[in-house]
Amino acid sequence: TAPVPHAPLRARAEIDLDALRANVRTLRASAPGAELMAVVKSDAYGHGAVRCARAAVEAGATWLGTATPEEALALRAAGLSGRLMCWLWAPGGPWREAVEADLDVAVSGLWALREVTDAARQAGLRARVQLKADTGLGRNGCQPEDWPELVAEALRAEAEGLVKVTGLWSHLACADEPGHPSIDAQLTRFRDMVGYAEGRGVRPEVRHIANSPATLTRPDAHFDLVRAGIAVYGISPSPELGSSADLGLRPVMRLSASLALVKHVSAGHGVSYGHHYVTPGATTLGLVPVGYADGIPRHASGSGPVLVGGKWRTVAGRVAMDQFVVDLGGDEPAAGDEVVLFGVGDGGEPTAEDWAKAAGTIAYEIVTRIGTRVPRVYV
Ligand code: PLP
Repeated sequence: TAPVPHAPLRARAEIDLDALRANVRTLRASAPGAELMAVVKSDAYGHGAVRCARAAVEAGATWLGTATPEEALALRAAGLSGRLMCWLWAPGGPWREAVEADLDVAVSGLWALREVTDAARQAGLRARVQLKADTGLGRNGCQPEDWPELVAEALRAEAEGLVKVTGLWSHLACADEPGHPSIDAQLTRFRDMVGYAEGRGVRPEVRHIANSPATLTRPDAHFDLVRAGIAVYGISPSPELGSSADLGLRPVMRLSASLALVKHVSAGHGVSYGHHYVTPGATTLGLVPVGYADGIPRHASGSGPVLVGGKWRTVAGRVAMDQFVVDLGGDEPAAGDEVVLFGVGDGGEPTAEDWAKAAGTIAYEIVTRIGTRVPRVYV
């Protein structure tokens, strides 16, 4: 059979902002006594930072959070004017721009406090600083033994009018494993470190430690503010907590493509690099024009699910840079027909959680890595 020409629309990620708004409302209802920070780092987990940030604010998120200052400054430039925090700094970072943009900046140690204090002095402004405690994650944050010195230095800078300590905060290591003993241990240490700082005269506006899983499962971790990322995008933080549907969340991203080619092959035909799939009989192959350069995990070679013509099919052979193949088992879809990689799941299509399972990873990685060649279409 002659190959059918390439379909005009290669791939698209539809972003359902109503779903995002509904998720924000669900999360607010889960933490009724706390404010909600929508975490929109990494381009809102691949969903588009500016559009998602605006939608989250419309639905009641009173804070936005990013990892890098550049991400936060880009949101300011786009007109997001509310509370906005960023937490991943390196020496020599854009502290002055951050202070001038009225960002809340995370400080985990003395070098960062000194750099932000210098920037505030130069700008003639008071920097909004949130002191981060390492209560057990073992990543960013101030160790408990260094906390008294950091608190003392912050209070000195506050007395000079150079900073305002607006927050005391931390991050959990195992909130996605309900009942993990480290959660209680971290909460106890957090209360101690907050108690110490407040006992010395720190008066924070917000104390916070909860991510999405803790927002959904641990009311005792809510404090004044919860920082939710993955759940805002309608994805369950972990299979241990159930699916997104179990949690009342609605996936925001739907990734689909058009079949670029449909062709008949005989039995024994090797498919894609390495010939890891060989057709068991005469069949129809469909070419899906997205690959690992678009964020389709190569680890899902032979296992990633798609919906074509109402049926689940799996990636046949290896995912290549720009394309992969599915064995359509004798069905006769046409080039241009839709292939759904993942979506809400209520129309029979796989979810990002299914792709995570197929690739041996977490759904965070699935959505975050969808590349820039895939246009985001807001619906
Ligand atoms: N807070 C911090 C400091 C983070 O780094 C993240 C994301 O990793 C979050 C909150 C949001 O986590 P989640 O996406 O699990 O809600």
